Amino acid sequence: MNILVVNCGSSSLKFQLVDSETEQVKASGNCERIGLDGKIVYKSGGKKTETKSSLPDHAVAISKVLDMLTDAKDGVINSLDEIHAIGHRLVHGGEKFSSSVVIDEDIIKEIETCNDLAPLHNPANILGIRACQRAMPRIKHVAVFDTAFHQTMPAKAYLYGLPKEYYSKYGVRRYGFHGTSHSFVSKRLAELAGLDYENSKLIICHIGSGASIAAVKNGKSIDTSMGMTPLEGLVMGTRSGDIDPAIIEFICQKENISVSEMTMVLNKKSGMFGLSGVSNDCRDIIEASENGNKDAANALDVLAYRIIKYIGAYYMALGGADAIALTAGAGENSSEIRKSIMDGLSAIGVEMDEEANKKRGEEVLLSTPSSKVPVWIVPTNEELAIARETARLV
Ligand code: AMP
Repeated sequence: MNILVVNCGSSSLKFQLVDSETEQVKASGNCERIGLDGKIVYKSGGKKTETKSSLPDHAVAISKVLDMLTDAKDGVINSLDEIHAIGHRLVHGGEKFSSSVVIDEDIIKEIETCNDLAPLHNPANILGIRACQRAMPRIKHVAVFDTAFHQTMPAKAYLYGLPKEYYSKYGVRRYGFHGTSHSFVSKRLAELAGLDYENSKLIICHIGSGASIAAVKNGKSIDTSMGMTPLEGLVMGTRSGDIDPAIIEFICQKENISVSEMTMVLNKKSGMFGLSGVSNDCRDIIEASENGNKDAANALDVLAYRIIKYIGAYYMALGGADAIALTAGAGENSSEIRKSIMDGLSAIGVEMDEEANKKRGEEVLLSTPSSKVPVWIVPTNEELAIARETARLV
């Protein structure tokens, strides 16, 4: 089966055409600057093309993607009949969705009731679904939610210490994100570490430009660092992660800015970018730190320290850990960041294999044979996970 995986943002549309039997990616790419000047990046057979193209809305973007996939010269399929289903990435499924679903009009209405919780993401995701449904009305469309995997968290992990009516009236609670990645990586980690997934205690560290950690017990998420929104938890590329909530009013008064402006600062100008003053990309920050930039060095210390603290907390929440995975951009590729994290885990008996830590972007055991807890690089693949879910449901 050929599954088209679609991930829509407010001005972007990422896609991948995956053969669900061989799990091979036939073509991939993204439409950027939808509603602005428009650009399409298309990759297939080791070839990459970038085209400036008018993309007034998501409907035009998806129809141009479908044209490229079926193009006589650069296409990878002969006709649209060779696309058997579309898997859509959905950011927020609230408490309504604890697994992926085949989309119909009722499901779209239910997803819309979660829009309040992800006002930037969900409406864009729905725009993408509608555009794809119009372009391909005869096939099944599946929604795969970032929040679904974490719906198994117990109340003690998802409730905040707030007046309880905020939860009952508005759904204010921890939902957690990156669920597709945490689910994919935790299953693979269990295989690599020779564990029974249904009887294991795993800590998954997704360290990319967005970052979160999940505690996975017996195949179920029992806690995770992101909260009602993806702002909570670890220090990320531009997001602050955990802060004292009283800071918000304090800075609003000092800087004479509104709560919305402060929320924008917490989402877009904080984290590694705000701390280092260099970049949101850890590669630039590591380089600056090596060149003596103290703020860059501090930012890297804060990043690793927060991760170590969360691993410690989840070690206790799980009652131990059978294995730990590092994944996503920095987790898969940065020897420096991995070393800082693993050096901070000696209290739970983690020992790093310096040679193994030189590798990147592949499945690698990073710890020594005598390490009490094995630590693995497990590359994530959210698109493949969405394709698998879609194939399973159709
Ligand atoms: P992702 O969101 O998973 O694509 O991760 C992207 C982020 O991973 C980048 O912004 C970098 O901060 C980080 N990253 C990727 N490769 C490296 C590397 N070799 N060294 C340090 N950080 C990296």
